Amino acid sequence: MFSLGALSLYDVLREIIELPESEAYRELVKKVIDPGFDKALDKVERVLCVSPHPNDCELGVGGTLASLAGKGKEVKLLVVSDGSLGTLDSSISPEKLSEIRYREQVDASKVLGVKEVLWLGYSDGRVPYNNELRNKLVCLFRSLKPDIIFAPDPWCPYEGHPDHRNVGLLTAEAIIFSPLPHYGCSEAPDSESWFVSYLALYNTPRPNAFNNITSFIEAKLNALRLHKTQFEHNWEHIKSLILFSAAFYGRKASTIYAEAFKLLPAQLLHAFPLAEKI
Ligand SMILES: [Zn+2]
Repeated sequence: MFSLGALSLYDVLREIIELPESEAYRELVKKVIDPGFDKALDKVERVLCVSPHPNDCELGVGGTLASLAGKGKEVKLLVVSDGSLGTLDSSISPEKLSEIRYREQVDASKVLGVKEVLWLGYSDGRVPYNNELRNKLVCLFRSLKPDIIFAPDPWCPYEGHPDHRNVGLLTAEAIIFSPLPHYGCSEAPDSESWFVSYLALYNTPRPNAFNNITSFIEAKLNALRLHKTQFEHNWEHIKSLILFSAAFYGRKASTIYAEAFKLLPAQLLHAFPLAEKI
């Protein structure tokens, strides 16, 4: 529990409100909500990355997942759809493509040090926004007990893919319901409630956390390259974009390569509009 020392909470808040806006909200989180906010990735033990399609987690935070696995954290992946739409080649059937992408995802995950890949098997392009999937996610969060969950940012204003929007939004909602004991989990009625400490949104236009992946850029590239159905025909192009993005965020993190995400303590996911500013 954070100690305010000799200062009352009111005194602390008065000090914070005098700070420049760029510092004030983050300071509010650290002083009042989560003193370990800046060290969140060091604190967590169990990590789950939710991926609308195979390869989304690698693209968004593959280097970060590899760095966390390298520090001995338990990293798992949850792939929501079967990836059966991910081709421009009409000669390959959706079923065959899905089979190949399953193997690609399993192989790529090994490169990153991921312990387990879980699948929900929804049809690519038809991941629903509904109570059934929200409930499945709550059940999974309660059984896997992740401390931090990575998911695509559903509030990215230019995200056009409904699978990404639905997965991101349902993940945030499931994090809200998972700790509530009266929220029933249909697949495991006796499941114990679980409080997920952090949501980290990748593919975000509003990052507030930059993770040094300089030692893991090769792992990220090697993992992505194994998704041959997606990147074999345009690998040099994709590789350049990945390196550019990692270098761009690296400048923000004062390092060579970095990944960026919007990190939020779970308490900020409801009725806290200042979360936008943090
Ligand atoms: Zn995707």
